[in-house]
Amino acid sequence: MKSILLIGLGRFGRHMAQKFNELNQEVLAVDIDEERVNDILPFVTDAQIGDSTSEAFLSSLGVRNFDRCVVAIGDDFQSSLETTSLLKDLGAPFVLARASRDVHAKFLLRNGADAIIYPEKDMAVRAAVKYSADNIFDYISLTPDYSIYETEVPVWWVGKTIVQLAVRTKYHINVLALKHGDNDMEPLPSPDHVFRGDERMLILGRNKDIERFLQL
Ligand code: ATP
Repeated sequence: MKSILLIGLGRFGRHMAQKFNELNQEVLAVDIDEERVNDILPFVTDAQIGDSTSEAFLSSLGVRNFDRCVVAIGDDFQSSLETTSLLKDLGAPFVLARASRDVHAKFLLRNGADAIIYPEKDMAVRAAVKYSADNIFDYISLTPDYSIYETEVPVWWVGKTIVQLAVRTKYHINVLALKHGDNDMEPLPSPDHVFRGDERMLILGRNKDIERFLQL
């Protein structure tokens, strides 16, 4: 279990609070708006009304003691930047900041953010890839060059094994798992697994190789 300080309870912050709650994390939620603080109470360990750009207020929360601090303020970049920078100055071990523009991401990283979440961009990229072809069901970018795709088994693979197809050497991809329906996952299939037409694969590889394989 992690202890999390979540600052900013707009739609984004609320979704995060609800998911942290499902994951049994210990969350202190903060917002300047009293109504938003009251609404989140059922989902968090504690919640406080306050201005996160106030050093005295942030200091009173003991930010050093949280494993993660999340700055979920999106539109008000000034507040987001000041909060991020103050958190780091006060000794927060890990600050995740929300960006809504490329330039914001850059400044947040320069001013204390350890990591950035950029929801509009991240989701736009994911949706664009996912809906670029009928045979892609999901996509996760790992680095700018490597990704995991969930895709159907090509018809010419059906009835053959991973070894017979020389998946790694010929296509430069790794089959991480096979999915049968939505809930049945077979991780790390053996080299002699015989591909079926009704299964999906999770494949990992360099974007260029996967795009070539999927004929994107
Ligand atoms: P979302 O896009 O998540 O729906 P929003 O559009 O309502 O958010 P944002 O400006 O992104 O508004 O702010 C997110 C939340 O952060 C709001 O609930 C706002 O009250 C809170 N907030 C903004 N500035 C501060 C601050 N200085 N201290 C504490 N909370 C703040």
